Amino acid sequence: MAVKVNKEECIGCGACVSSCPFGALVMQEDKADITEACTACGACVEVCPVSAIAREAEEKTISIDKNEYKDVWVFIELAEGQIKNVAHELLGEGRKLADAMGQKLAGVLIGEGVEHLTKDVFASGADKVYMVEGSEFKYYTTDGFTTVFAELIKTYKPSVILMGATNDGRDLGPRVACRVGTGLTADCTNLGIDEQTGLVAWTRPAFGGNIMATILCPEHRPQMGTVRPKVFKRPEQDFSRTGEFVRVKSTVKDIRTRLVDIVRVCTTACNLEEAEIIVSGGRGMGKPENFALIEELAGVLGGAVGASRAAVDAGWKPHMHQVGQTGKTVGPKRMLPSLRQLTTVLLAMSWKYCRH
Ligand code: SF4
Ligand code: SF4
Repeated sequence: MAVKVNKEECIGCGACVSSCPFGALVMQEDKADITEACTACGACVEVCPVSAIAREAEEKTISIDKNEYKDVWVFIELAEGQIKNVAHELLGEGRKLADAMGQKLAGVLIGEGVEHLTKDVFASGADKVYMVEGSEFKYYTTDGFTTVFAELIKTYKPSVILMGATNDGRDLGPRVACRVGTGLTADCTNLGIDEQTGLVAWTRPAFGGNIMATILCPEHRPQMGTVRPKVFKRPEQDFSRTGEFVRVKSTVKDIRTRLVDIVRVCTTACNLEEAEIIVSGGRGMGKPENFALIEELAGVLGGAVGASRAAVDAGWKPHMHQVGQTGKTVGPKRMLPSLRQLTTVLLAMSWKYCRH
């Protein structure tokens, strides 16, 4: 959908220019003009006193029978054969959504030799597990997982899909959404049910984290989103729970990407999402060399090293260390709780340096 200015009706008052959050409106020869920066947000439409700005007619949307789409799905992401924490966190939150919608919660498990993990998925709250096994899924591949996930959606028609906002989830989610013709809200920090529509209300930071936007997906199915790790608590597992197990045959014929090697660049120091202790620094460190202090302290405490956006933007630390709204969402069990404790650690470090 586009927004247009009717130049015949524009009286050149300029009121619309300041209403545009994207700086997409300019005055040219006493008439408002919309530039390519326009996102069609519509904020200027109501501002014009002579209704010279209007949205162009909406394209006809492909009509789908939304009643055919049921259940909440969670992508069960794996790392070295184990279910990642974020998948458990999403099962816990997915359980609440499914209960509120009166629907079932399902886990989607794709991998090689993963059947034994189904009990773990049920224990975290799932009613159902869809499993696709095969040696071609030993490691995550963009095209392999996209194809199989899209096929599962077309066959079983889920209403809601949750994925972790991890490297794999951020890669897979948008591709699957595009393949099945729906939208996706990325990097959510909260989920709920919109009271008026009964749709999932996806909340995420917008405009550089200055506001929180809540997004609905009224026209398309499934409703999809990625959710940051550590936003929700991992549920208590109940291993007496069981559920329906659906084994699905792989339809993937041609995977174009092949894993050649794994090069680990991330050590304990940058495993922020799983870290229980984090020592973080920002511009206050003064210069990049001073981050050695942060690294040393993190080493002593067995924690990870965090950095603010300013420090990362300045090139003092790589992006993989960035924490906060524009970086990784973290949930350490232990911050440095008191000045006394910090002083003790720093004294221990200075003692170590003095001896050298
Ligand atoms: Fe700016 Fe939104 Fe109007 Fe486009 S529709 S010109 S982005 S206010
Ligand atoms: Fe023209 Fe309306 Fe913008 Fe005024 S608010 S400059 S009349 S488009």
